[in-house]
Amino acid sequence: MKLLTFKATTHSAKSARFGAPISAAAMEARIDEPGPIELKTVGANWEAPITGLLNIKHPKAVAAGITDRKEPIKIYAHVLRHPTYGFFLVDTGVSRKLVEDPVGVGVGMMLRKFGGIEKMDTQQTTADIIAAEGVPLNGVFMTHLHLDHVSGLPDIPKDVPIYTGADEAEASLFLNLFAQSTYNNLLAGRPPLEELQFEKGLGGKLEGVNDVFGDGSFFAILTPGHTTGHVSYIACTPTGPVLMTGDVCHTRWGWDNGVEPGTYMQEREPSIKSLNQLKDLSERHPDMIVRLGHQE
Ligand SMILES: [Zn+2]
Repeated sequence: MKLLTFKATTHSAKSARFGAPISAAAMEARIDEPGPIELKTVGANWEAPITGLLNIKHPKAVAAGITDRKEPIKIYAHVLRHPTYGFFLVDTGVSRKLVEDPVGVGVGMMLRKFGGIEKMDTQQTTADIIAAEGVPLNGVFMTHLHLDHVSGLPDIPKDVPIYTGADEAEASLFLNLFAQSTYNNLLAGRPPLEELQFEKGLGGKLEGVNDVFGDGSFFAILTPGHTTGHVSYIACTPTGPVLMTGDVCHTRWGWDNGVEPGTYMQEREPSIKSLNQLKDLSERHPDMIVRLGHQE
């Protein structure tokens, strides 16, 4: 039962200019072929309580003796290059401006106090990543709108389109009560969020799939649970498909053992279902490389 709902952001949203829903079966028929996307992943160091990242009450975690601790994790930006459409990011990495001047970029008091921003240790800031590519950034595909995924936004030019899952702006989480102003500030002055569209009932073993560039090279997969509109992505590279799970699974141990995240989620049942669907998908495609939400 939901008594109170708070949107992640009141920033406006519209249907994405890119992408069309396709069946999961159609996607799975293509992804084992080599594709044209170049992908690299850049991580900043961070840490978080394991109780958020992993359900330590799960019988497997109890059996493994996992107890509360701080867990070293990463905050990722995935650099995607498409031969025709150019340079995109999946999630945003970390901006130095956010770490050094959270007030200045609009982070609210609760996230400054409890968000762990001071522990974000950039190896390569988002500004560095964009500069290194040497071409304009054409868009950012978000897995979801949480601070550790939008933390690079202050380095991203204001006119760059931001793509999210449908209804991500509506995601209702009590934490949003405290975080909404921060997300609004980070998105201020930007165009409406572009929502990737999914259609249920097209068949296959996933909740929804979108062929983002329309050429079978890059797919968005609807994976609700962590947030309502959470999206995972598959990029088809010359060496095979790369799955970016986002926060369907934060940790390596959670993925290997099939144990869902801990307190960092909106709804547990869909979260478990999304994790199982992605694990089954990766097992059907043994060459798939899996990049998890916050660990290698
Ligand atoms: Zn996260």
